[in-house]
Amino acid sequence: MTQMPPSNVPGNAPRQGPQLLALQAQILASPLLFANDTHKAWQFLTEQISRALYADRVSVWLFTETDILQCIDLFQYQTKSHQQGANLKRSNYPAYFAALTQDVLITASDAATHPATAEFKDGYLQSAGICSMLDAVIQSDQGLCGVICIEQQQARQWTVDEQHFVTAMASVASTVHTFSQHLRLQQDYQLSLARQEMASRHACIGFWEANMGSGELWWSPMVYEIFGVDPQQAKPDRTLFYSCVHPEDMALVLDSEAKAAKGGEHDVIHRIVLPNGTVRWVHEMAKWTAPDAVQGARLIGSVQDITAQQQIRAELQQFFALSRDVLCIANDHNYFERVNAAFCRILGYSEAELLSKPFTDFIHPDDLNLTESEVTDLQQGGVTSGFCNRYRHKDGHYVTFQWSSIRDPATCKMYASAQDITERQHLEQLKHEFVSTVSHELRTPLTSIHGALALVLSGCLGPLSEQMLPMLQVANNNCQRLTNLINDLLDIEKLSAGMMQLEMQPYAVVALVQQSVDDNAQYGQARSVRLVFQQAADTAKLYIRVDKYRFAQIMANLISNAVKYSPAGADVKITVALEQQQVKISVTDCGCGIPEDFKHLIFQRFSQADVSDARQKGGTGLGLALAKQLTESMQGEIGFDSAAGHGSCFYLLFPTVQISASR
Ligand code: ADP
Repeated sequence: MTQMPPSNVPGNAPRQGPQLLALQAQILASPLLFANDTHKAWQFLTEQISRALYADRVSVWLFTETDILQCIDLFQYQTKSHQQGANLKRSNYPAYFAALTQDVLITASDAATHPATAEFKDGYLQSAGICSMLDAVIQSDQGLCGVICIEQQQARQWTVDEQHFVTAMASVASTVHTFSQHLRLQQDYQLSLARQEMASRHACIGFWEANMGSGELWWSPMVYEIFGVDPQQAKPDRTLFYSCVHPEDMALVLDSEAKAAKGGEHDVIHRIVLPNGTVRWVHEMAKWTAPDAVQGARLIGSVQDITAQQQIRAELQQFFALSRDVLCIANDHNYFERVNAAFCRILGYSEAELLSKPFTDFIHPDDLNLTESEVTDLQQGGVTSGFCNRYRHKDGHYVTFQWSSIRDPATCKMYASAQDITERQHLEQLKHEFVSTVSHELRTPLTSIHGALALVLSGCLGPLSEQMLPMLQVANNNCQRLTNLINDLLDIEKLSAGMMQLEMQPYAVVALVQQSVDDNAQYGQARSVRLVFQQAADTAKLYIRVDKYRFAQIMANLISNAVKYSPAGADVKITVALEQQQVKISVTDCGCGIPEDFKHLIFQRFSQADVSDARQKGGTGLGLALAKQLTESMQGEIGFDSAAGHGSCFYLLFPTVQISASR
């Protein structure tokens, strides 16, 4: 189309009817109007109208809400530019909005005085320098939907031909608008189809539709995929479907279909056999649509491939059934919802019996309070680990379980597993009793052997020959070792049984530690290791509450270990310091250090990094286990820092004790 100046360029007389009609035909013939891009269509339309009428500004406005007109496109001839987005509100321009509903055309040669456009005078007309307006309303099937505005910066009389042209353009705009709405609907539909396809693929769900009257069956692409059928090769019908159903599940499917035929819902989980022999699990659901004028009642349904879920279920079921440990699920009302076979077997009840009353009914009365507080803890987000309680067997005896449980706040259910530790507990008990009986039985004769040997060695009973002396010394040393071992064993048993009597008193820590250093100095000297005691400046008045004999026992273990594992000629440093309101007593050596893989075992009974040490250095592996139990019984803590090859630092932490001035 040739470029034409607007009417304010001198020499341009308004176009006549036939010319405008020709332009109108050209505009209508443009493929741009009904292409996929409505934005371009509006730009094309405003620009063509501006050129046809020599108009300065042409815009299209559409209602976004009943009271708001939004500018879809404004073309300005001077700048050859397009703008969008401005809004006009009915409340601001009531006369204009009223005129749009009454007139098809607003011909305002003098816009500032025309009743429909005068309210634009001070704002819109002035700022855009507009004198004349010619507006044609856009009507669609739903009624008034917008307006085309032709604006001129000079006063202009709009000819009848021009008015016809604009009216025609308004109906073109209406068609473009309707088309764009269809386009949007179509795009939305495509999008929702794409979404549906994606969801269907993601969840492995296909859709089908059966016309029960005609027997026709329709499958979505996913159904073909699930059934392993090539859509090019086979047309779906009932025979094809039944041929896929696993023979063992046929009755189940027919039963569900029969229910559906009577107006109910079709809902069945069954297996299908693919042409290649693969077996899949599917979940089918369907319901009836209301019959319409065109079609009779149809059954519309979905089919989901649930093979993966079924496999997981089956595997979990296997675990549940085969587990030798107790597994159960309980609700917040203290009822079991599921228990496994092991639970039933161990307690002698059937599953129905265990589910029939609150689990608290099976628990030993003495364990009820602790169990209830454990459950409360679980309900508040805690985790049970190692908690033990006793359940009554059907024949009346009690079984001790050790529990691990967690509660899922989403389902409000507790998931628990337990081991029957009745036998283990019994054996432990027997072992404790055995160790303590044997230790007691051994201690008395050992004490007398030790006493006798000491007496012989002292020379009171007569001189000893040179051959006898070393043999008797070896016997005496081993006797001492045996006595120490038995004493340690008895102490540990006593602590485990809670029978250890402790004489807890406040003591000045520096004096206590000094005493331990003095007591063990001799032991160090015998191995050419010097004990060096260092106390920090602020520790002289620090008190701790301990049993002083047991404290000395702990210190003797730490110092003797430090000496044992130090090279000859080295120093062992013993320090007292105040750290974060706690007294820290450290024993540091520069010996072999603790190997990394032994650190987690060091406080366990009978554990030694290198078992050959036991013979070389004379240990039992009980000292640190005992030291830990004793320290903790006295409200202290024991720990160590060590790197293999760089020595070790064992430390004790005790809370400080305030001593009143009178003491
Ligand atoms: P033991 O009577 O064998 O010394 P402990 O329980 O006192 O028993 O110590 C256990 C093991 O810890 C020792 O056998 C040794 O391997 C290691 N251990 C303890 N203290 C030290 C230390 N200061 N340096 C290196 N290893 C140590």
